[in-house]
Amino acid sequence: MKILEVRNLKVYYFLHRGIVKAVDGVSFSVEEGEILGIAGESGSGKSTLAHSILRLIKPPGEIVEGEIIFQGKDLTKLSEDEMREIRGRDISMVFQDPNTYLNPIMKVGLQVAEVYEAHQNAKIETVLDKVVNLFKKVKITDPEKRIYSYPHELSGGMKQRALISMAVALKPKLIILDEPTSALDVTIQLEIVNLLKEMKEELNASMIFISHDLELLSEITDKLMIMYAGKVVEYGSTKEVFNNPKHPYTEALINSIKYIRKDTLPTIEGEPPSLINPPNGCRFHPRCPKKFDICDKTEPSLITIDGRKVSCHLYGEEE
Ligand code: SF4
Repeated sequence: MKILEVRNLKVYYFLHRGIVKAVDGVSFSVEEGEILGIAGESGSGKSTLAHSILRLIKPPGEIVEGEIIFQGKDLTKLSEDEMREIRGRDISMVFQDPNTYLNPIMKVGLQVAEVYEAHQNAKIETVLDKVVNLFKKVKITDPEKRIYSYPHELSGGMKQRALISMAVALKPKLIILDEPTSALDVTIQLEIVNLLKEMKEELNASMIFISHDLELLSEITDKLMIMYAGKVVEYGSTKEVFNNPKHPYTEALINSIKYIRKDTLPTIEGEPPSLINPPNGCRFHPRCPKKFDICDKTEPSLITIDGRKVSCHLYGEEE
């Protein structure tokens, strides 16, 4: 069963120098219990997409078109009060840098307890035992003591675990992870990924995992969506996309990680295009080694081929 369906979503930033079409007509869905990975270079629109699901886009950004259907409701139509109810309770988010989201002058356990206060009207003192249990679940050592620590007294990995405990506190149906491990060193990254997998199993939650690390996504996701310049270029089962990429951009990404392992997305010749004046036709054409006559004239549509979606003129829709 679909837990989330995003249809033709467009999120634009209205700047003095022009309109940045950060997400430009994106459609996808997430099934119950599924992990969807979203990958792409910075500026591909993946983080904007994640933030727009929770309606966290701030002016000059705006959702200009499309639907975000979550459990039968179109989130783009809800009031801010209704969205506040959904955030944290039904859909939660873990961000890249825990320092941005933890209050430096408040004890971490109390910050997690606030989630219960906000959604269940519980008094903070009455839910501290629940927070201790959550800290145990996310493997924070010495949880009875740690709930009284300030963020600066915790390591980066521990802070991220505290944020994860906040995200899972109310057993949400969908957890959005925006580069949750990229600020951490490699061994801690692995521990956090294993923890997220355990949490997903325990809650039977669905996840959207955004990362520039394709190798990581290939290990933990069921489906993979590749974004380029605000558009989806390939989307399908992770195994198939990773083992047999069809879009030249996906192919270039995957080929490059076979030779190089860095903490940023491997580079592909050329620059990501301007999102104010994107190239005509296929947005990838200035960098594509396989481009041909039609590529800079007509934009390819996202078509289904071998059970996955691809947006490239090299392929024709199946009969
Ligand atoms: Fe390359 Fe053309 Fe396919 Fe774009 S449409 S990815 S330019 S072959």
